Amino acid sequence: MARKKTPLPFHENVEITDAAAEGKCIARINEKVVFVPMAAPGDIVDIQIVKKRKSYLEGKITKFHTYSSQRRDPICSHFGLCGGCKWQHISYENQLINKQKQVKDNFDRIAKVEIGKFFPIIGVENEYYYRNKLEFTFSDRRWLTNLDTPKEKGGHQNTNGLGFHLPGMFDKILDIDHCYLQKEPSNDIRLAIKEYALEKGLEFYNVRNHEGFLRNLIIRTSSTSELLVILIFRYDDIDIAEILQNISDKFPVITSLMYVVNEKNNDTIWDLEIKLFKGKPYLFEEMQSPVSNNDALKFKVGPVSFYQTNSLQAFKLYKAAFDFADFKGDELVYDLYTGTGTIAAFIANSVKKVVGIEYIEQAIEDAKENASLNNINNIEFFVGDMAKILTPEFINENGKPDVIITDPPRAGMHEKVVKQILLAEPKKIVYVSCNPATQARDIALLSEKYDVVKTQPVDMFPQTHHVENVALLIKR
Ligand code: SAH
Repeated sequence: MARKKTPLPFHENVEITDAAAEGKCIARINEKVVFVPMAAPGDIVDIQIVKKRKSYLEGKITKFHTYSSQRRDPICSHFGLCGGCKWQHISYENQLINKQKQVKDNFDRIAKVEIGKFFPIIGVENEYYYRNKLEFTFSDRRWLTNLDTPKEKGGHQNTNGLGFHLPGMFDKILDIDHCYLQKEPSNDIRLAIKEYALEKGLEFYNVRNHEGFLRNLIIRTSSTSELLVILIFRYDDIDIAEILQNISDKFPVITSLMYVVNEKNNDTIWDLEIKLFKGKPYLFEEMQSPVSNNDALKFKVGPVSFYQTNSLQAFKLYKAAFDFADFKGDELVYDLYTGTGTIAAFIANSVKKVVGIEYIEQAIEDAKENASLNNINNIEFFVGDMAKILTPEFINENGKPDVIITDPPRAGMHEKVVKQILLAEPKKIVYVSCNPATQARDIALLSEKYDVVKTQPVDMFPQTHHVENVALLIKR
């Protein structure tokens, strides 16, 4: 006889208290944290526990008693299935409040340091169409939704789709009708390509058996109205020229039309040849200078180069860092994790010299090109792993920094890097972070010699839980 499983607990009238990572919210039941999707802080709900872990639970809402006042109707018809905008059901004002709280909580819980001034978060002007880069995937078996006609009524004849992965699912693609993340003609281009492919009977990719022709589509828009489009195919074929010509005729606004033949089973393209069909193999981004409204910095962005995905907010983030640093003009500044050298270029004219460090060689090549494009010649770039490159010898050779700007990836800084910064003893550290938890952890270590004078959260990604935060640390 099969043994009966003990049913997982069910709880009534539970209050959702906070917003958390991955777009989930938190409730507390008997001192235990429960992660709940599709909730908003302030909801009163019944929760069915669906998973029990050692330190937390996962639950599902079975009934709403009270809807939170933070809620609003999501604008997008794909909300709930698509992983792109999980906070769309929370008003933008409340998204900002939740993000501010996330930064504050991390500093209270992890850094446990006094913060001189905690500035209110800088929000966006337009909460939609803010991304300059999107990547879509073709699938011969799109995820079927209740918008699809059921099979009995003649539906499911054709299950080709072009859109985004369902959250955490490598093989499930949600066909996208209108996406609110990127300005036009992003939607128009995607829909036109899909229509053409369906009309011509071109094969959409199947990620399980790796068959099919059309694989991915990347669209990069820019502040200069230049537009870069890359289509990725599984194999070389005469249809490629035809489809690209069709896109080019329909969208003369495309300034770079490129394609890749990816015969591998994975989707990465940085390791493959990116072929140019029409236009130039890059586009330009422009960013206002921090010291003049009339001057702009120009950045050359190649098909796989990194550039901050929300260009308008990137300016605000860098400006916050720049204002915190309060340069006098004679400083030696280290820009750690410099990427394509955007922060280095942004501050170069206001300081004596910048030393930029980054471990991706291609990024440093772009960084050098961007510096010369803007007639900047006081930045020196170095390639290498931060923990290995930033040593007392390096500092001896390149000079003791007056200011260190650091902008590490989500994992934060390696402990060795934090130790080197403490040894280098710059007067100021400006810590730009995309993850307040690791920022707080690193700042706890830096607080041995530094005071946190002020912090400025910045929102770069509306409708998501992501938040950036700039902190100014001054040596005691
Ligand atoms: N400051 C840049 C990029 C920040 S993203 C900008 O605003 O555009 C973080 C950067 O750190 C990435 O470019 C990544 O390649 C780099 N990076 C990550 N780990 C690193 C390491 N261990 N050593 C050096 N650079 C690293």
